[in-house]
Amino acid sequence: MATVLLVDDSRISRKILRKVLERGGFTIIGEASNGEEGYLSYKELQPDIVTMDITMPVMDGIESLSLIKKENADAKVVMITAAGQKEKMVEALKRGAEEFIIKPFDENEVLETLNRVAEREF
Ligand SMILES: [Mg+2]
Repeated sequence: MATVLLVDDSRISRKILRKVLERGGFTIIGEASNGEEGYLSYKELQPDIVTMDITMPVMDGIESLSLIKKENADAKVVMITAAGQKEKMVEALKRGAEEFIIKPFDENEVLETLNRVAEREF
């Protein structure tokens, strides 16, 4: 089953995602609380999928996404967005984001999205 790195500055969001994804059979191999940590963890852990929050301190999710895609053009990054972030979503798509998960999380939707991404071949 696919390995996942969670990048989000909200501990509660990470906790919920971990629970949902583990229930769905994914293996969480790491967590990071800002974009910079997320990028460094990506390089170290080489997860199959990254879930990436957009608004974070130190380095936001858009910047971190860019660095990860520069490191590995085939990296699968799923952005986590909240209402009212349309412009950021467009920017993330341009930079190679795979899919989006909307907060607050819907368990089925999260699993459907991650399963879809996990099955995608490059
Ligand atoms: Mg955030």
